Amino acid sequence: SKAITAEIYNAIKGSSLIRKMFEEGARLKKLYGNENVQDLSIGNPTLDPPQIFKENLLKHAKNIPPQGHGYIPNIGLPETQEAIAKMLSNIEKINIPKDNVIVTSGAAGGMNIIFRSILEQDDEVIVLLPFFPEYEWYAKNWRGKVVKVETDEKFHPNIEKIEAAITEKTRAIIINSPNNPSGAVYTQDEINKIGELLRKYSKKHDRPIYMISDSPYMRLCYDGIEPASIFLAYENSFEVGSFSKDMSIPGERMGYVIVNPNCEYSKDLINAFVLCNRILGFVNANRFFQKIIADSLPAIADIKIYDKLRKIIYNGLTESGFECVEPKGAFYIFPRAPKGHDGTSFTQIMAKKNVLIVPGVAFGSPDFFRISYATNESTLRKAIPLFKQALDEIRK
Ligand code: PLP
Repeated sequence: SKAITAEIYNAIKGSSLIRKMFEEGARLKKLYGNENVQDLSIGNPTLDPPQIFKENLLKHAKNIPPQGHGYIPNIGLPETQEAIAKMLSNIEKINIPKDNVIVTSGAAGGMNIIFRSILEQDDEVIVLLPFFPEYEWYAKNWRGKVVKVETDEKFHPNIEKIEAAITEKTRAIIINSPNNPSGAVYTQDEINKIGELLRKYSKKHDRPIYMISDSPYMRLCYDGIEPASIFLAYENSFEVGSFSKDMSIPGERMGYVIVNPNCEYSKDLINAFVLCNRILGFVNANRFFQKIIADSLPAIADIKIYDKLRKIIYNGLTESGFECVEPKGAFYIFPRAPKGHDGTSFTQIMAKKNVLIVPGVAFGSPDFFRISYATNESTLRKAIPLFKQALDEIRK
């Protein structure tokens, strides 16, 4: 193309696998009707936002002051920083000052301002398989690249393998727990051990290696599990969070970055993130929704519903003979494709049965496939027998 870069041209041609399933789904739904296509491909929350969020939305809409749509500080509104700092202080078990919170345009915006600030040419960012594919783009956007590291059979970190992947170019590791796509929630002990490792190599290489906790699913944990404290485990760390998933408002683009209060060079980092919020063109996260968030936290969507769906799909698949690890958080499950198949060929088999899933290769793990159970119960209940049917046909 004479218009666009070769890199972006090729990316469009390759197209994201998740996106492809989305388009295939639209085609099938048009052909067979919505109720006859079971779409388990996209992580778009189905729950209603919390009631208080809706009330605050109306309240603020009715009370917009003069210039109430004007620019605000790039770092965010003070009341929103305050509300996020308070909520995260509880989760992280450490006191977070309000000015360590930068309100961002989603977690995605947060990841980009961090990489823009910390990556030099060819710096490496460690990701643990399976991983959210956008990380590769976010790193590449800002001169870096991802280094993929295998996890154990339950998708938990393998410390030796992480250590073996560290080089002088290593600048950060992304921790995504609860994980998209596996649903794994890492333990405090695992995070502590990664912290020890980063401390050792930051010293050895005389440059901080950052722990970036990308945690939009932090408040979506089940079975009484609590997310580990990143900030207690390792000082040179950031929390990147979002209300997309836990408040069901992904289209409103509300997220944040928090710099660990014990981080070295924290003033430099905060100043850099604020500058990058501006120069990457976000300028400030949506002002109107910052007001609503400030008044609504720590409200959360009714996640008991996801928990119920989680049990239905996990039990349904294991009873049908699939090999899967029980997810402990987020709203995905990542089963192994049946013997003789990989995630891609199995995805095609399921598409013929009008069930849409995402092949694991999209997340760097080709032997698996991802199901999003952020859907409704009837969709899941219609899909489960079709999974069983597919497995029975394969085994015949
Ligand atoms: N990180 C992970 C692991 C995700 O799954 C997603 C969205 O699917 C994001 C980040 C982006 O979230 P946001 O909508 O807050 O930008």
